[in-house]
Amino acid sequence: MSVQNVSQRGVKDLKGVGTALALKLQKLGITQLQDLFFHLPARYQDRTRLSAIAGLMPSIEAVIEAEVQLCDIQMGRRRSLLCRVHDGTGALTLRFFHFNAAQKNQLTKGVRVRCFGEVRPGPGGLEMVHPEYRVLRAGQDEPLEQSLTPIYPLTEGITQSRLRGLIQQALQLLGSQPLEELLPQTELNHRAYPALTDALHFLHQPPVNADQQALLSGTHPAQRRLAFEELLAHNLALRLARTNIQKVGAPALKATGRISRPFLAQLPFQLTDAQLRVAREVARDMNRPVPMLRLVQGDVGSGKTMIAVLAALQSVENGRQAAVMAPTEILAEQHYLNFKSWLEPLGVEVSWLAGKVKGKARVTVLEQIKQGSGQVVVGTHALFQDEVQFKDLAMVVIDEQHRFGVDQRLSLREKGRQDGMIPHQLIMTATPIPRTLAMSAYADLDCSIIDELPPGRTPVMTLAVDDTRRPQIVQRVRQNCQQGKQAYWVCTLIEESEALECQAAETTAIELAQALPDLRIGLVHGRLKPQEKAEIMARFKAHELDLLVATTVIEVGVDVPNASLMIIENPDRLGLSQLHQLRGRVGRGSQESFCVLMYHAPLSRNGRERISVMRETTDGFRIAERDLELRGPGEVLGTRQTGMMQFRIADLQRDADLMEMVHSCASGISTESARALALGRRWISDAEQYAQV
Ligand code: ADP
Ligand code: MG
Repeated sequence: MSVQNVSQRGVKDLKGVGTALALKLQKLGITQLQDLFFHLPARYQDRTRLSAIAGLMPSIEAVIEAEVQLCDIQMGRRRSLLCRVHDGTGALTLRFFHFNAAQKNQLTKGVRVRCFGEVRPGPGGLEMVHPEYRVLRAGQDEPLEQSLTPIYPLTEGITQSRLRGLIQQALQLLGSQPLEELLPQTELNHRAYPALTDALHFLHQPPVNADQQALLSGTHPAQRRLAFEELLAHNLALRLARTNIQKVGAPALKATGRISRPFLAQLPFQLTDAQLRVAREVARDMNRPVPMLRLVQGDVGSGKTMIAVLAALQSVENGRQAAVMAPTEILAEQHYLNFKSWLEPLGVEVSWLAGKVKGKARVTVLEQIKQGSGQVVVGTHALFQDEVQFKDLAMVVIDEQHRFGVDQRLSLREKGRQDGMIPHQLIMTATPIPRTLAMSAYADLDCSIIDELPPGRTPVMTLAVDDTRRPQIVQRVRQNCQQGKQAYWVCTLIEESEALECQAAETTAIELAQALPDLRIGLVHGRLKPQEKAEIMARFKAHELDLLVATTVIEVGVDVPNASLMIIENPDRLGLSQLHQLRGRVGRGSQESFCVLMYHAPLSRNGRERISVMRETTDGFRIAERDLELRGPGEVLGTRQTGMMQFRIADLQRDADLMEMVHSCASGISTESARALALGRRWISDAEQYAQV
């Protein structure tokens, strides 16, 4: 049997693994032997040395050898067996809540025991609660463990020792035959990484003298080497997906300027340099006969919509359709109304499709889309539905990408597949993605950054205020609105309960209406019908309302430049990126704007941390970096994205510094080489997810 095959044999080839156990292993993502190799310990125990009781400290795990002095059952709140042991340097109590008579009879005065457990402070000095222990026979020498003891991530129905046994068995099958080495030799030499097989043997059975600190923090060269290989595999898979797309081809669209020039001319402002640069990058991509796949990152308020309009117009100038999709109806409708007011005077038909478009109106829109008279189609994910057929879609804009999954991105692309071509894609996100994340999650995308805000914006001034000062804040809202400016009041709740959050917003709106009878107050929350929500938003925008009480539904994209004050209740309950998005609703006009973070003391450490970041900076990229540190990558990208972000060994935060090297290593490997394919087979269980075109 070849080496390759050993690692790909099913777990059932191991002794003692039947269908039931195989199913449980599957829950851990383990189906082949190689999955066992790559199922690394979460941590290690050191059972290689005896510790003297005198040297023990709380919370460390230790092996001790000692003599029983006294053993007795203690009644009290919880019946327990207490056993006092002494090793000549000091004494320690063993405490058992579950025990039987045999145990009590065994642990009698003078008996020698070897124990392993975590040391804790107890009422009468240090204790071990439920230690693993063994009674030693006189004159018998018990050997200690020869290597650190791995502790593996488990699932229900599999014990530590069972899994340990299986992994040892698998490693033995592997024997001294090395697994196929897939990292280039130069890379290994250059970084002093161990060979794959050595790294695996080491990590499953680290020798006594291994650097435990490094192992625990995941920075040991053996771990880094595996993380590197895994990141490389993912990077190559994304590149392959991209290569495949480029083989498909896309309509080359010329930027004639026929419509975009008059469009720009009638704007009340000039594009910023950053907008111009990104618009040029997009235009150049669309002019090529390969599908554009470009991610535009730009902080809230940086003017990404202009890029979307210009991209859509480039398609229309070539007689083709464009689709613009936003994640919520509020946002999509806002885009629709804007696009309509900009484009219809220029003779471009804009269509609108969302879940709420029903009955006859829907039939009409679907027909427009199919006939091509809807030249720019704006909508929500309703655009993905089967019934939606485009005549000649050549350009897709997806706004606020992090709200959509990769699968949805692919599905809209499919809609435009025609004569072996697929549409260009522009993805826009206001949640800046730290570079390291972008490199792994979006290695298949080109990236443009709008790193400049339109002129005349004054940065939002952020204050943190204890909620005992609520009355003063309410007065501040009154003053603000009496000056003809508008304000938001955002209610949050810790539970993931939309119902409770809406309720809180309702209560707050009633209280504020009582306290501020002279203000016109509106309320939006997620439980209103989209129609109702949109109406209230429209009234706020038209300044028929002074104060908008809202849940976090207003988070993305709402644009009311006259709103210059935002109160956020319980800001510590929100993530940094979410706070940043919310705050981005103010500071859109030229007047000075304020964001008041009204917290309830005491704050958790992390909560305080987040609030101080918000006060320190309005730079979305810096906030995103801090968010990544405080919350981790899964959260930052949003749950929908985590599907593609699941790594077995790599940790985007811990291994962030590897990304650049992985990137350059990947660029030296052909995505279709045997090496790349083998890496994919080894590391990516759902390779087709990336490779799908
Ligand atoms: P975002 O990047 O958050 O989507 P928008 O596209 O909604 O930002 O733009 C925010 C606001 O800035 C809008 O009111 C828009 O009309 C305005 N705007 C966009 N570009 C410019 C510019 N170059 N100069 C002045 N205002 C601009
Ligand atoms: Mg936007």
